[in-house]
Order: sequence, then structure tokens, then C-alpha cells
Amino acid sequence: MFISKNKHIFAMDKNNVPVAHLDLPCKLTFETLDCFSEQINCVQDTLETLNFEQVNPATGPVFLKGIQSGDVIAVNVKDIRVKSPGKMVAAPGAGILGNLIEKPETLIVPIEDKIVSFKELKLPLAPMIGVIGVAPTLEPIPCGTPGTHGGNMDNTLIKPGSTLFLPVQVEGALFALGDLHAVMGDGEIMVSGVEVSGEVDVTIDKVNDLQIKNPLVKTDKEIACIVSAPTLDEAIETATIEMAEFLTQYTSLSINEAGMLMSACGNAQICQIVDPLKTARFTMPLNVLKELGITIA
Ligand code: CA
Ligand code: ZN
Repeated sequence: MFISKNKHIFAMDKNNVPVAHLDLPCKLTFETLDCFSEQINCVQDTLETLNFEQVNPATGPVFLKGIQSGDVIAVNVKDIRVKSPGKMVAAPGAGILGNLIEKPETLIVPIEDKIVSFKELKLPLAPMIGVIGVAPTLEPIPCGTPGTHGGNMDNTLIKPGSTLFLPVQVEGALFALGDLHAVMGDGEIMVSGVEVSGEVDVTIDKVNDLQIKNPLVKTDKEIACIVSAPTLDEAIETATIEMAEFLTQYTSLSINEAGMLMSACGNAQICQIVDPLKTARFTMPLNVLKELGITIA
């Protein structure tokens, strides 16, 4: 099924009207607007000229039949096709270097044959999904904010071939995604990656035998617990604790052993440090988890 970019939301909200009701497993293509809702078309369209009520759209939401609060869904990202050109911005006050930026600037970034042209520099295309999640139980959460429901995690591991596991909070999940990046560095320090419109192919299914409080992503190399919190310290600490709990729950490792193993071969990493909450992940190599007998979908 094809979900048009015209069907989009600006907040993950249990009261959003679903654009489709789907039986699981399902195969979907989401067409997405870029994070500026395609308001940037030339270098004169700088950050302060934008209507901020239209920033960070997510396509959807879709209602997944038979899914209840407390369930976990697996979203397998099959393919991401990005549309050229990408856009980047710099603006006073925006991002980690905001205080050093004196004038706003927009960069239009052509993309062709898996190459992202940053002026004369050629960067390899590495498409990923910035915003992806489900509706929260309580108040609506703007699509620009990450959390236990997913949202604006800006995690470079959410890419083709990856499977994202999301804890569902409301009946039907109300799943949506958007904010594609042609390439983005960990941290997203200027508040934008190479922002692009595009299309994402996913399959979604229900997962049994997995209990998680926060999103978890599996790539071909690693599994990562993803946590968002008011500070990066808190996000990293909680992601580390989540991984330790995951290991002690699904293997026979003691907390001491799990901790030492994580300290030996796990990585505390940054997703983004510029959104209303900061997002961190703790990764463990997939081959180590396989040797421990952990196999998740
Ligand atoms: Ca984002
Ligand atoms: Zn973005």
C-alpha cells in the first residue's frame, strides 16, 4: 500500500485520524515531505523565513489491526529512495554552533548516483529516517520531539536493512514516519542533516517474546537501545541501563557479567543533541548477541 505525503501529521497523537487500517504483517511505502515541508526551494529560503508550524511532518498515521497498548511492533526498513536536491541550513542560535553563526544560510545539495554533492565535496549517500514512531498514551508529542514512542530520534542506524522495534502505547499503534536524511552525522549538530523528501518501503509485523520500554534497533552489525531524555548524560545512562537489563533478561549473564561485557565491546553513542530531548543509544555487536543465544526478529 502507498501512503501519500499529502497525508501527514505534525504531532504523534492518539486522536489523529488514521489514513489506513492494515492487517499484519503489512508491506507499505510511505512518501514523505522533507522536514521543512518543502518550504525551502532556493538559497533565499532561510530558516527564519519558514512557517514553523509546518516543520517536521510525518506521513501517516496508519492503524495496525490487532495491535494493543503493550505490544511491540517490528518495522523493517527495506529501502529508502531520496529525492534530489537535499537542503541544509545554518542559522544564528540554531544547534550547537548557534552562538558562532552570524547570518542565516541555506545550502542546496544535489544528489545523484549515490553521491551527495556538498559544494565540490562528494559525500556517499547514506539514507536514514529521522522521525519514526507511534502515538503516545498521554498528551500529543510534536513530531520534532523524540521519546519512548520513537519520534524525532535522528538515529543514523535507522536505515535500509534495519529493523526498529517500537513499544506500542495505544490501540492500533498509529504509526507514522518522515524526516529523511540523505546523509547525517551523529549529533546532527546544526539541527539539519541533508534534509530530503523521498519514499520509504517498510514491512511491519507484531513481535512476540520481546518486552521493551524504549525503541530498539537492529542493523546487520549491532543492536542498539535508544533513549531520549532532557540531558545527554541522562539519555546515555538510561540507554546503558536498558541494554544491561536487556542482556540480563534474555541471557543467563549476571548484571556484573553483562556490565563487564558491555564495557568490553559495547558502545555508548550519540544520536542527536539538538532536539527538545537529546537521544543516545547503547550498541552491542550482533555477533556477540548471537553467541549469547539472543535472536530477535
Ligand atoms: Ca530530525
Ligand atoms: Zn531532518
